[in-house]
Amino acid sequence: MTAAADAGPTEADWAAAVAVVRGLPADARVLLICHVNPDGDALGSMLGFGLGLRQLGVRRLQATFPGPPEVPEPLRALPGLELLVPEADAEPAPDLVVCCDAASESRLGGLAGRLAGAGAVLVLDHHASNPRFGGVNLVDPRAAATSVVAEELLNRLGVRVDAAIAECLYVALSTDTGSFRFEATTPAVHELAARLLATGIRPGDISRRVYDTRPFGAVRLFGEVLGRARLEPAAAGGNGLVWTYATLDDLARHDQPPYVLEALIDSVRCTAEADVSCVVKQVGPAEWAVSMRSKGAVDVSRVAVALDGGGHRLAAGFTGRGTADDVVASIRAELEKALVGA
Ligand code: MN
Repeated sequence: MTAAADAGPTEADWAAAVAVVRGLPADARVLLICHVNPDGDALGSMLGFGLGLRQLGVRRLQATFPGPPEVPEPLRALPGLELLVPEADAEPAPDLVVCCDAASESRLGGLAGRLAGAGAVLVLDHHASNPRFGGVNLVDPRAAATSVVAEELLNRLGVRVDAAIAECLYVALSTDTGSFRFEATTPAVHELAARLLATGIRPGDISRRVYDTRPFGAVRLFGEVLGRARLEPAAAGGNGLVWTYATLDDLARHDQPPYVLEALIDSVRCTAEADVSCVVKQVGPAEWAVSMRSKGAVDVSRVAVALDGGGHRLAAGFTGRGTADDVVASIRAELEKALVGA
């Protein structure tokens, strides 16, 4: 990674973003987009920023994401969900598109086509691998979550972060920091959390909904999928790889939607004997959504980028093709090239 790629937005970038929003016509159509299979940061930063735009008087507001318009159950209490429309109903030529938490255009699926027809494209993100695909890019790889960037821009726009906006930004911040456990949990993260909590939002209720509630079918599904996990101590230059997979048939058998598998990586990555963990989730006949985590010996974003995905040093993902074994074989090969210090 170059020093330039690691640097966050410049003052000129912030000024450009403020100017784009302030320069919107009175009846502006604004479309907010986040990445496919949206997580807490994608939806939270998108809806929190959307509610801020509404406070600024933007009325023709839509928020969307590619794929089926189902919001994962743990995120169904987020404020601002009324802004969501299915991908097909999204404004074809908005005055402004705001992309939240999407590491690349490919993460926008069919909605990537909306960028060319938009009056302006503003990218809010924190993935180091982001190629800065917007007209104005606020990409800060040092930010723990996209919501950190969103809050800064809302402040610069003079938006008062109320409890509804705060809840969105808090869910985003807490999910992307693993409930304030990851290395990215800096003093600034806790300072932001403190500002958000000061609006009166209830962290106990939010955490129970977002992390600690799961249908019984998902509990049984996890048991089955964890039971087939494989440990490969020699992989990743001897640092170890642990992986498992889940098929569409597994989901159907337990009557569970795909998003329940998002939490699975947390149960796999705790394996003491492996630096790298991986969950391969079937999304089509020969298509797999892959989540990877590292404890530090491997830069998994290098693996993901090599396989047309993206992410962070310690957490990344990509879309794999073929069988689950094919996908794991492709990861195994890239791991050796992604050893830190190699
Ligand atoms: Mn994020």
